[in-house]
Amino acid sequence: MRKELISIVIPAHNEVAGLSSFLENQLFPVLEKIENYDFELVFVDDGSTDGTLDLLYEYANRSKNFRVVSFSRNFGKEIALSAGLAYAKGDAAITIDADGQQPPKLIPEFIKEWEKGHDVIIGVRDHYTKHGFIAKTGSRLFYWLLRKMGNHDTVAGSTDFRLISRPVIDEFNKLPEHKRITRGLIDWLGYDKKYVKYAYGVRLAGKPSYNLGKLFHLAIDSFVSMSTTPLVIFGYIGIIITILSGALGLFCLINQYILGDPLHFYWPGTLQMAILITFLVGLVLISQAVTALYISSIHAESLGRPLYIINKKKSRNL
Ligand code: UDP
Ligand code: MG
Repeated sequence: MRKELISIVIPAHNEVAGLSSFLENQLFPVLEKIENYDFELVFVDDGSTDGTLDLLYEYANRSKNFRVVSFSRNFGKEIALSAGLAYAKGDAAITIDADGQQPPKLIPEFIKEWEKGHDVIIGVRDHYTKHGFIAKTGSRLFYWLLRKMGNHDTVAGSTDFRLISRPVIDEFNKLPEHKRITRGLIDWLGYDKKYVKYAYGVRLAGKPSYNLGKLFHLAIDSFVSMSTTPLVIFGYIGIIITILSGALGLFCLINQYILGDPLHFYWPGTLQMAILITFLVGLVLISQAVTALYISSIHAESLGRPLYIINKKKSRNL
């Protein structure tokens, strides 16, 4: 009987310094101990300039199950993961970083959860080791906002270290958007999820390719692609400003010109002007939000996401 195949998908960008150590000391020993599955490694070389690719070739020459997808230039980790999943042939795929921060020794546990019937096994890091204060706070804020916006359930600290089953891989591969956050999309797809905590390690060697700026862009991208809430918030602010300043202006007018200022408020022209301007700002914000609503519906359509995702395993007689 054919053993089931598991693809290990690994994006790599300038990882030559730590790559051998990651493979020889961490990944291979774990895979060798797992007997009831076959494995293939799908490396995506994301435009490395440091000899990562040559090192990968050395391994690929030795084994057919060591596959290398080479990008023409650096496209970023999210795209690299997508390419890896597109080329993965396995009945399940495990995505893992090449720098040793995500411990391969968790792989048997991932597989066990998969065997129990879960389709998405998500590694959740239990502490923040890698960044300074700003990134740490930023990351917490990011997850908090993402959850508040409620477009999909995201667990704080959930990482790209995941196992996804073939049905999920197939659905993932159909997603058409260009700006993509892999884990956000996998979360969006749904299916049975299982979270596994792990201690996020330190980099074996080399430098992280993601600096604060890149992470910030990533955060913005995921908000824009996952939610239109930011657009709508300004509309609400506009409505509040308009109502408040409108009421104040009305009160001011009636008091001054109809009642003859019985309470002896003093309404100088500048104040009237200020109220008028605030009122107009409110209107501008509202009209902007209305435009935003149109944009957001265009946005939703242009993403071209499928209307729904069917879990074939749980459906009957389709
Ligand atoms: N990576 C990639 N393309 C990039 C940046 C990173 O394929 O443009 C890979 C990198 O080689 C590593 C993984 O993505 O395997 C995570 O990258 P990194 O360690 O820089 O990020 P962090 O640990 O901060 O998530
Ligand atoms: Mg890393």
